[in-house]
Order: sequence, then structure tokens, then C-alpha cells
Amino acid sequence: MQKITLLGATGSIGTSTLDILSNHIDKYQLFSACANADVEGLLKICLAWEPRYAVMANVEAAERLQSKVRAAGLSTEVLAGEDGLVMVSEHPEVDIVVAAIVGAAGLVPTIAAARAGKRLCLANKETLVMAGQLFMHAVEEGNATLIPVDSEHSALFQSMPPGYRTGKTPVGVEKLILTASGGPFRQYSLEQLKQVTPAQAIAHPNWNMGPKISVDSATMMNKGLEIIEAHWLFHMPCSKIDVLIHPQSIIHSLVEYSDGSQVSQLGTPDMRTPIACALSWPDRITTNVKKLDLAQLGQLTFFAPDLKLFPCLQLAFQAIEMGGAAPAILNAANEVAVATFLEGKIPFLAIPKLIEDALTKMPSSSSIATVPDLLIIDRQTRDHVKRQISNFESATTLI
Ligand code: NAD
Ligand code: MG
Repeated sequence: MQKITLLGATGSIGTSTLDILSNHIDKYQLFSACANADVEGLLKICLAWEPRYAVMANVEAAERLQSKVRAAGLSTEVLAGEDGLVMVSEHPEVDIVVAAIVGAAGLVPTIAAARAGKRLCLANKETLVMAGQLFMHAVEEGNATLIPVDSEHSALFQSMPPGYRTGKTPVGVEKLILTASGGPFRQYSLEQLKQVTPAQAIAHPNWNMGPKISVDSATMMNKGLEIIEAHWLFHMPCSKIDVLIHPQSIIHSLVEYSDGSQVSQLGTPDMRTPIACALSWPDRITTNVKKLDLAQLGQLTFFAPDLKLFPCLQLAFQAIEMGGAAPAILNAANEVAVATFLEGKIPFLAIPKLIEDALTKMPSSSSIATVPDLLIIDRQTRDHVKRQISNFESATTLI
């Protein structure tokens, strides 16, 4: 029986993970479930799974959960705050940590799981973007087994040479080709992009995801973050990572070998496949995912990305070239810009502007030898972007 800590249990990836686990209760046991402040969501999970621990990052929410868990007569122990998240991520009884917190909030517990040598099923791409080198060191030091959950990186991982381990340069591989759906605005003009609303931005054509990653997909920053993610996971320079628009999201990415072969993984766009793969690799477990029927689909299409319309992609390439703190600055600026856009306070096209501004003005050459160094630059960038937003009399002047 493998014991699992599920970070981000109430989210989109968390819910898909629980769906898989419910079919494999003979193999996996939910040891702990963690969330931010969704008391009802985590209570529902506690009632269904009775994990040893339930952790809420928000202390006040943890208190409310605690009284509900007691009233229900459950044996689950409720913990609060980041210390609680770290405790269940490095707990000696835990075999697998599914890292599915959204954003920089996932950094500290995810690194803790890596240092503790867990099988780490990584969905929280922001950790790799912010802390690439530090995080990969933690994986190495802890001798953790790092398996990507992000569908493109799962496809690349599954297409790697036999025996491949993340963090190593794959032998015989010349290029990684990340596929991208292009998001809901793939065919929009610049004029149309000026008008898009949060509701339009979170309505992704192929994937059902949390709000932040949905907006990232709409700006194509998601692909930008994924380029940086692939760079660290597969130890490949960004010059060897291409992006290919593939609106159907069936081919989940490709590995190009020196002999001219391109190897890829295909499947219905459903995160339960890459999550199941990460949980069980190199074995396979069943899922409720609808099987792919290529004859019914008929055709798949491909296009080159439009870097002018979607500058976030270019900004991500720029950040990794700048190195140092630049990817962490990119990530923090993006998180603040996306959250403010979702609140309806800035226009869609202000997102890349704010990120570009932060990359130019923040000290990207700062040394980030430790996690506290990283958290300082993260905080400074967030403050800078918030100041930029409030400095504008009218948010529309941002575009
Ligand atoms: P979501 O918004 O649906 O869920 C986020 C989860 O994180 C929730 O459980 C929430 O309670 C928790 N959380 C938020 N802030 C927290 C904090 N401060 N402390 C502790 N927990 C906190 O997000 P999602 O779509 O499930 O995405 C999760 C991660 O997986 C993201 O990094 C995303 O980029 C990545 N990812 C998601 C998908 C997808 O299909 N949803 C695909 C690939 C990668
Ligand atoms: Mg992805």
C-alpha cells in the first residue's frame, strides 16, 4: 500500500487524482489532503477518505475545518499553515507526494518532498519556473523520483529513451517539441484581444482547469512556463525546445531524436492519464478516461505560434536566457497580473505589459542561492507589480 500526500486536493488536479485513487484503493491510501481555504471542499474529502491529516494553509479555515471534522466524529487530524504542508510532504510514512498547489504557494512543500526523497508527481510547474536549479538540486540530494504530471511533460517523459531519469540530458535527443492548443483566443485579432473578459479567458476549448492556468493558457504564458519547466526537467537548453500549435490537444508533445524519429504520446485531453502515469510509472493503472478514437477524429492540425499576438511566450524565452532571478520575476509578475485580471481590474493585454515591465525593472541578476533569497525577490516583484497597477489612474492605460 502506497501512502499519498495530496497537495492541492480540492483543485482540478486534486479532484482528478482522487478519481483515480477511488479505482485503486487496494494500491494507494490517501495519507493527507491539503488545500488553501476551501473548508467545505476539504471536509468532503475528509468524509469520503478519512485521511490521517488534513492541512489548510489558511489558519482560520483550519480552525473551521477542525470543528467540522470533530463534529463528524472523524479521526483525521487537522493541521494549519505552511508548517503543516511541509510536515505531511516529508512525513516518513509517505511514499508519494502529488504536488498540485497552484502558483508559488506550492514551492516550500514541494521542495520539502524532494529533499525527503519522495516519489514526486509534479503538477505545480511554478515551482520549477521559480526555483529550477534549487529544486533540481533538492531532487538530486534527496534522491527523489521526479515524474511530471503536466500533460506535455508527461508525454515527453514517456517518449524518452528507456531508463531515462528526469534531470539528466537524454541521449540521442536533438529537440523537444511542446504542443499547445493555442487557447481560446488562438484566432483572435489584436483588437479582439483588447476586449476579452475573465469569463471568456477561463473557458478553455479542450481542458477543464483551475482559473489561473486557464488564463495562462489564454495568454500562452502557460506554454512559456512549460518551456522553462521542460528546460529543467529534461536538462535541455531552450534553443532546443520548440512550440507547435495543435488545436485538438491529442498529441501531447514530441521528442525528436538524432536519427530523424519523432516519438510522442497521444491521448484524449484528460489530466487523469498523466496523473495515473506519474503515480504508477513504470507500471500502468486503469483510469476512467475516454479512449482515443483517431478514425472518429479524422484529422489533426498544426501551426506555428504567433509570437506577436502572444508575447508571453517570448518573455519566457527571454527570462530563461537572462537567468538568475529572471524566471522567478516572470512568475511572480504573471501571478499578480493574472489575479488582478481575474478580479476584472486590468485588461487582458496588460498581463504581458506588466511582466515585461517587471523583467526590465527588477534586479534579475540577484543571487538566488537559497529558498529565502527566492522568496524575497518573489515578494519584491509582487509589490512592484501591484504598485504599477495602482499607479495607473485608469487600468485601460496599461495597454
Ligand atoms: P486549482 O485552482 O483548480 O486548484 C489549486 C489547489 O491549490 C486548490 O486545492 C487550492 O486550495 C490549493 N491552494 C491554492 N493556494 C494555496 C496555498 N496558498 N496553500 C495551499 N494550497 C493552496 O488549480 P489546478 O488547475 O488544479 O492547478 C494546480 C497546479 O497544477 C498548477 O500549478 C497548474 O499549473 C498545474 N497544472 C494543472 C493542470 C490542469 O489541468 N488543471 C494541467 C497541468 C498543470
Ligand atoms: Mg500543460
